[in-house]
Amino acid sequence: MAECIFCKIARKEIPNEFLYEDADVIAFADINPLAPVHVLVIPRRHISSVNDFMAEDAVLIGKLILAARAIAREKRIADDGYKLLFRTGEHGGQEVPHVHLHLIGGAPLTENIHSV
Ligand code: AMP
Ligand code: ZN
Repeated sequence: MAECIFCKIARKEIPNEFLYEDADVIAFADINPLAPVHVLVIPRRHISSVNDFMAEDAVLIGKLILAARAIAREKRIADDGYKLLFRTGEHGGQEVPHVHLHLIGGAPLTENIHSV
């Protein structure tokens, strides 16, 4: 996916600090944070949305969640809690068609329920 912005970030064609990386997964700060901690965890490989995950991606999906948890621990928000969110498709408000797990926290999020 040559034109996909998150593929470009994964290939380091757009400079961005990785908060986490392994062979399959990277994470970076959201450019428009909705909370004090707002990180996107993505597969390096282009997958458009949750709708496009295959059964064979089950381990990858687990890695996305474990990476998000590791970042939450590193940022010391794990004990207070956080949200993990996959927006999917139009009604889900997905804007970037490369699947990404939002890690959102660092403050109570109840009042932001409609925006995050
Ligand atoms: P979604 O609405 O779930 O598709 O979320 C897309 C997210 O990507 C939004 O929260 C944007 O702020 C974020 N975003 C878009 N472009 C970039 C970028 N170049 N670097 C970091 N985050 C981005
Ligand atoms: Zn992509």
